[in-house]
Amino acid sequence: MLLSKSFIPILKNNPSEAKIKSHQLMLRVGMIKQASAGIYSWLPLGFKVMKKIEAIVRQEQNKIGAQEILMPTIQSSEIWKESGRYDDYGEEMLRIKDRQNREMLYGPTNEEQVTEIFRSSFKSYKSLPQLLYHIQWKFRDEIRPRFGIMRGREFYMKDAYSFDVTDEEAFYSYNKFFLSYLRTFKRLSLTAIPMAADTGPIGGNLSHEFIILADTGESKIFTDKRIFDLTSEGTNLEKSSLEEMRKKYEQFYSVTDEKFNKDEFEKMVLEENRLITKGIEVGHIFYFGDKYSKAMDTAVDLPGGKKDFVKMGSYGIGVSRLVGAIIEAKYDDKNEIMKWPLSVAPYDIALIPMINKNDNSALEKANNINSVLIKNNIEAIIDDTDENYSSKIKKMNLIGAPYQIVIGKKSEGDLLEFKEADGETQNLSLDKIIKLITKQKAPN
Ligand code: ATP
Ligand code: MG
Repeated sequence: MLLSKSFIPILKNNPSEAKIKSHQLMLRVGMIKQASAGIYSWLPLGFKVMKKIEAIVRQEQNKIGAQEILMPTIQSSEIWKESGRYDDYGEEMLRIKDRQNREMLYGPTNEEQVTEIFRSSFKSYKSLPQLLYHIQWKFRDEIRPRFGIMRGREFYMKDAYSFDVTDEEAFYSYNKFFLSYLRTFKRLSLTAIPMAADTGPIGGNLSHEFIILADTGESKIFTDKRIFDLTSEGTNLEKSSLEEMRKKYEQFYSVTDEKFNKDEFEKMVLEENRLITKGIEVGHIFYFGDKYSKAMDTAVDLPGGKKDFVKMGSYGIGVSRLVGAIIEAKYDDKNEIMKWPLSVAPYDIALIPMINKNDNSALEKANNINSVLIKNNIEAIIDDTDENYSSKIKKMNLIGAPYQIVIGKKSEGDLLEFKEADGETQNLSLDKIIKLITKQKAPN
């Protein structure tokens, strides 16, 4: 892609209305454009990143056997009246009337809708478990939308729902999502820590929030910092393996402020291991048993002939929020260098030809390199403007391709002036560069 033809409206300075670095960068490089309070259009750069995050989320859902569906954004109030939440949800719900004067709403979440789908299709324990998910826009009329897409009113969420016959089976489903969340965030090169959480308006008994550390986060957290050293490596989808994994995480104190208890914290965590800080909630999982299935009369036949309400859980990931969360975690705002993790980078590499008026050879060379890169599935952005070196580097640092090749005096012959966005320059052949990037790109 040629920079001169791309829709990346870069601003000279940080927009003054943005208070945190992700919001600043996203406006600065034109990843998003505000449409109205808490509602954004996604421009090419931002949309590319979000779609790559979405694809990783989807792959990891599929890996645990969840099946993708797509439910509508607009829902009927009827099912929400059945569950009792039409009144409970309050002002965050955007309520709409259609031309027949029927009460509709823009979905803030989908427990009711998915339960309605389930109950009309599944009658027997034999079809269970069912793990269903979709990736769809949500609307919550947040009282204070802020920080750009971090707390929007309209936002993009992956929400999954599990249906099981017994508590034990339901915990098994819960643990599968627990693992898939750890894997998903790892692939986004984020360290997300599961924290025991309150269940809030979704209701229920067991819940974890997945939080990444950031000073600008809105969640206050209290942890035993040894939890940061744990990994999900070696865990497989067997019941016992998953149980062990969750126990491993739960042995360390790790809660958000709603669940914080000072005495417990001080008793359970040695002083040197205590970490009190802030974080961003990027995912949240709940187990709530038959809360909705009972209210919505959703039961299946059991082996002995009896019937029972299905046991449900729900599992959310803030796909659009993650774009901001990754920036909060990775952007060096002092030096104005964004280095996207290769797994979600809008471009894998920036080609920076040093063009002067009567000599087009650097641009030609860049185009030639680009055709080789395309053949190797490496996506480049080429700065074909005739600006000077430092302003080109500045722009590319903001756009955030993790690698850069400068094509100027130093890139003579076969050796190219190559560097990671925040690293030292090395002289490497194109072949070596391709190998290096391809290796990094392989899913772990
Ligand atoms: P928060 O505590 O941040 O308001 P929540 O607990 O109300 O979030 P959930 O119902 O758990 O949100 O939604 C699942 C995920 O969707 C959250 O973990 C978060 O990543 C994302 N999310 C929730 N609300 C918003 C929002 N207003 N803007 C962007 N993402 C959001
Ligand atoms: Mg939550």
